[in-house]
Amino acid sequence: MLADSISPGATKSEDEHRRDICTAGRWIHSRSFVASTDGNISVRLDSRRVLTSPTAISKGMMSSDDLVVTDLKGRKLAGRREASTELAMHLLIYNRRPDVHAVCHAHPPVATAHAAAGIALNKALLSELVIALGCIPVAQYGTPGTQELSDALEPMVQHYDAILLANHGVVTCGQDLLTAFFRMETVEHFAQVSLVTELLGKQVLLSGRDVEKLLAARTRYGTTTASTVTPGCPVTSESSGSGPGEPDRISITRKELEALIEEAVKKDRALR
Ligand SMILES: [Zn+2]
Repeated sequence: MLADSISPGATKSEDEHRRDICTAGRWIHSRSFVASTDGNISVRLDSRRVLTSPTAISKGMMSSDDLVVTDLKGRKLAGRREASTELAMHLLIYNRRPDVHAVCHAHPPVATAHAAAGIALNKALLSELVIALGCIPVAQYGTPGTQELSDALEPMVQHYDAILLANHGVVTCGQDLLTAFFRMETVEHFAQVSLVTELLGKQVLLSGRDVEKLLAARTRYGTTTASTVTPGCPVTSESSGSGPGEPDRISITRKELEALIEEAVKKDRALR
């Protein structure tokens, strides 16, 4: 196996999990998904223990013995460093989702910009994204590292594998670390494509029927995801009025709108 790779699966020795977390840390750092000492990664070791990245270290510079073992309540069991300050968010996901064995939190710039703008990545723009994640909602803002953030996330963790954290970043989870990391990569990639369609001034969304067919294809692709389709997730051509045959939408500023109204009123007065 390549030195810089992670094999699929969650059944591994603790040493392998330690190496995998350090590798994923280098990946999120080298792809600019985090800056400075931001971000955190964890793996469920067994029914009562979690292995997590420590606080206050670049995720691109971790070595195996920097990692910390805690129980599912966050009490430290082993490690010379302190556990991630976002551990509570990871534990919430492990406690609510028995299927999840790894959690990844980062601040990839374009997805995080959507989170800061309060814009969910919920449009049916790309077929593979619909298959992989359905849509990516925004959880309400909560102060990082506090119960407030966990409370904001709680209603969503059962239903989504990737969530934008308002004014903060992204959290993803999966049945193993490779899946959780890939989901982070997918979210940022989709955020970039979505942004470019906005810049192009046109988004052609898939229809509800297209989405249904993609969901039926999940089994064929071997995709397992917690996300289910709910009204507005994903937003389809019917629900947004932006399908291929739909009229073009335009956007104008308040000033431009006021000028148009003023002009119309003037013309109307002149006619009287
Ligand atoms: Zn963060």
